[in-house]
Amino acid sequence: MSEETKTAAPEAAKVETKSAAKPTERPVRTEGSRPTRPAGRPERPARRNGPGGRGKFQRRRKFCKFCADTSLKIDHKDPVLLGQFVSERSKITPSRVTSTCAKHQRQLTTAVKRARILALLAFTPLHHD
Ligand SMILES: [Zn+2]
Repeated sequence: MSEETKTAAPEAAKVETKSAAKPTERPVRTEGSRPTRPAGRPERPARRNGPGGRGKFQRRRKFCKFCADTSLKIDHKDPVLLGQFVSERSKITPSRVTSTCAKHQRQLTTAVKRARILALLAFTPLHHD
């Protein structure tokens, strides 16, 4: 569809009249030169959200786990809790993923680092046994 709008510009050729080296007329593309456009994108499925729906995803309300549950304490001696905020590669999951607030993310980071020193959490998944 968009290919036709790009190539169809006969007025642009007038500017190039001085430079004789270039042929003024563009070779018209024969039909055989290019196969029919491969379907790069399949037909879009019908949106379920309706006209007002924005984006693919229903955005969840962000909430910090530790703010929501004040009884939950960030403790560097609790590897089970801290393990929830560490990725498979033993990296600390960013707060934009876990939706932890800045205050608790800071505490969490410190706790994870402390737990690593105490060998309660792994620095790297490469070290086993
Ligand atoms: Zn919080």
